[in-house]
Amino acid sequence: MLDVVVIGAGPCGIAAAIEMKQQGLNVLIIEKGCLVNSIYHYPLAMKFFSSADNLEIGGIPFITVHDKPTRAEALAYYRTVVRIHELKVHTYEKVTDLRRHESGFLIFTESKHGIRQYEAKHVILATGYYDQPHMMGVPGEELPHVHHYFRDAHPYADQKVAVIGGRNSAIDAALECYQVGADVTMIYRKAEFHESVKAWVRPVIENAIKHGRIRMHWESEVEEIKPGKVVIRKRGQVMEVPADVVFAMTGYRPDLTLLRKAGAVLDEKTGTPVLTSHMETTVPGLYLAGVVATGADATKIFIENGRYHGQLIARDIVEKQRV
Ligand code: FAD
Ligand code: NAP
Repeated sequence: MLDVVVIGAGPCGIAAAIEMKQQGLNVLIIEKGCLVNSIYHYPLAMKFFSSADNLEIGGIPFITVHDKPTRAEALAYYRTVVRIHELKVHTYEKVTDLRRHESGFLIFTESKHGIRQYEAKHVILATGYYDQPHMMGVPGEELPHVHHYFRDAHPYADQKVAVIGGRNSAIDAALECYQVGADVTMIYRKAEFHESVKAWVRPVIENAIKHGRIRMHWESEVEEIKPGKVVIRKRGQVMEVPADVVFAMTGYRPDLTLLRKAGAVLDEKTGTPVLTSHMETTVPGLYLAGVVATGADATKIFIENGRYHGQLIARDIVEKQRV
C-alpha cells in the first residue's frame, strides 16, 4: 500500500510528487510515456512564453541561456529535478482504470510488462490535456493530411499549408511554416486575434498578414476538409482554400475518463471537476494537479500556476492525517 500514486509525470505531477515526498509520504509516479511526455511532443523549435523561474519546481533553479527556455532546456531541467529529488517514476506504463475501495484506491496499469495493479491511500491525477485535441467535428477532420499537432516546419517548405485557429499554437505553426517557404493561409472564426496571443508574437503575425506574406481569412468557419482543400464559410459565403496539409490548432481538452471511473462529480454545464480549495475531488483522497483540473476551458491553468497544486494537496493530506 503506497501513500500516494501520482498519475502523470508532467511538470505539475512531478511538483506534486516532490511535495508528497517532502512530507515523508511514500509516493510513486506512473507515466504512460517518457518524463514530461507532453513537452517532449511540443514543436521542436518552441520557446516557452514563461521565463525560466516561472517554470521552476522542487526548489531547483532553472538556469537558461536566454530568459525564455527552449523545449530542450525544459526537458533537461525536469529530468534533473526528478534525479535530484530521487523520485520513483514508472515510465511507459499507462493507468487504465482507477477504483475507490474501502482503504484507498486500486490503480490498474498496462505496459510492455503486462497488466499491473497498485494500491494507494491517495491518488493525484495529473494527466494534463495534450493527449486529446479539441475536435471541430467537421467532415474530413480525420483525413491523413489533417494534423492537430505541429512538430516541425521543414517538411512543408514547398507546400500549401492551411492553419485553423487564431491563438498561440496556430500563430506559431503559421509563422514557422512561412519561415521555411510554405504558402500559408490562416482560417480563424473571429475578426481579430484573441488577447491571449503573446505581446511579442502579435506584431510579427499582424505584419506578416498586412504585407501578404501569410493569407488570412477572418470570420471564417470550417465547413469541411477535403483532400487538397478546406471548405470555409466566410461571412456567409462558401469558399475553398487550397491546402496540401492542414494544421487544425484548435486546442486541447483533458481526458476525464479516469476521473469518471473513480466516481468524481463534474459540473455538467462546464465539464469542470468539482474541487475543494485543496484540489480534492468529490471522491475523498482523489486529488487533481495541473491542467487536468480545468475541464473544458483548458487555458486557465498552466505550469506557472499548476505547479503549486501539490502544496495545497500536501497540506490537506497532512492535516487529515493529524485529525
Ligand atoms: P502535462 O505536462 O500534460 O503532463 C501530463 C502527463 O500525464 C503527460 O506526461 C502524459 O503522458 C501523462 N498521462 C496522461 N494520461 C496518462 C495515463 N492514463 N497514465 C499515465 N500517464 C498519463 N505553460 C506555461 O506555464 N508556460 C509556457 O510557456 C507554456 N508553453 C506552452 C507551449 C505549448 C506549445 C503548449 C501546448 C502548452 C504550453 N503551456 C505553457 C501549457 C503547459 O505546457 C501545460 O499546461 C502543462 O504541460 C501542464 O502540466 P501538467 O503536468 O498539468 O500536464
Ligand atoms: P487554444 O488557446 O485553446 O486556442 C485554440 C484555437 O482554436 C482558438 O483560436 C479557438 O478559437 C480555435 N477553435 C477552437 N475550437 C474551434 C472550432 N470548433 N472551430 C474553429 N476554431 C476553433 O489552444 P493553443 O493555441 O494550442 O494553446 C494551448 C495552450 O498552450 C495555451 O495555454 C497557450 O498559451 C499555450 N501555448 C504556449 C506556447 C508557447 O509558450 N510558446 C505556444 C503555443 C501554445 P477562439 O479563439 O475563437 O476561441
